[in-house]
Amino acid sequence: MSAASPGTEPATSVSVPSADDASVSGGKRVLLAKPRGYCAGVDRAVITVEKALEMHGPPVYVRKEIVHNRHVVDTLRERGVVFVDETSEVPEGGLVVFSAHGISPAVRAEAEERNLRTIDATCPLVTKVHKEVNRFARDDYDIMLIGHAGHEEVEGTSGEAPDRVQLVDTEEDVEKVQVRDPSKVVWLSQTTLSVDETMERVDQLRERFPEISDPPSDDICYATSNRQVAVKAMAAECDLVLVVGSANSSNSQRLVEVALQAGARDSHLVDYAHEVDEAWLDGVETVGVTSGASVPDVLVMELLEWLAERGWADVQEVTTANEKISFALPRELRSGSETARSSVR
Ligand code: SF4
Repeated sequence: MSAASPGTEPATSVSVPSADDASVSGGKRVLLAKPRGYCAGVDRAVITVEKALEMHGPPVYVRKEIVHNRHVVDTLRERGVVFVDETSEVPEGGLVVFSAHGISPAVRAEAEERNLRTIDATCPLVTKVHKEVNRFARDDYDIMLIGHAGHEEVEGTSGEAPDRVQLVDTEEDVEKVQVRDPSKVVWLSQTTLSVDETMERVDQLRERFPEISDPPSDDICYATSNRQVAVKAMAAECDLVLVVGSANSSNSQRLVEVALQAGARDSHLVDYAHEVDEAWLDGVETVGVTSGASVPDVLVMELLEWLAERGWADVQEVTTANEKISFALPRELRSGSETARSSVR
């Protein structure tokens, strides 16, 4: 996996303050990871729904959660968005937005059959993986898709070539997959995995299929890998790492795992500050804070306030990269305001 991603400038020097630097009594301090929170794909997806509401008025239907974050979904629901599981729940002729995680061609076809008006908020970095699946399927490869069973992104990506794609989630899956020609096998991946675990799975696949081809470029996206690098940089200094994110957010869950693997003594995922169990803070001096790629920063600021009220008021940011990337809005919505920022932040 590459270290430098497009649109990302590595920090010139990464300094992680040691506990001796804590300036407040009792050594209580917070290390705040940067980058954290909203990625370009999530920002684009949320703006897409906001603009659809503005242009067409409610109800705007969204298939699945637009992004995996409870606060974002609840806020948009209050503004008139109706979240559905399937396009069959959208009335004939209705307007439906497809989520950032992407859809299979079958879902697109069903929407067309039902005369739905559609706006596709699939992240361009997910679309890139769809295109890779199509290309390797056309070249008659067997495709090992590393990802989590049941995740919407994986369902959409596999749906591009269901007869060519096999999902590899666990080590056992590596033993189970069957290929027609071991010289024509490629691995691709979900965009929001743990970089290290994915490489473990690739090594296992390579033991079975020494000629397996690598993806043309990293499938794990810049935002996922940047947030993991940042949490890794500070984890060993932390007694506790709090990750703001929802339980169904893959990249947020990975941040908890990465923090623990990188030396944090404890780590938990919370949607909101009030979900923090005060018992987690027993004996803790350094708290690390970060957030998943679908998390508005207002939720991180609320967590920092909550911690400050309990004595963790000294906040030091640990910056491992500066992200500059942004994506144009879906074609259906472009009207000169592509650079707008979502208001759910
Ligand atoms: S996490 Fe990555 S792939 Fe997913 S929406 Fe954000 S930029 Fe796109």
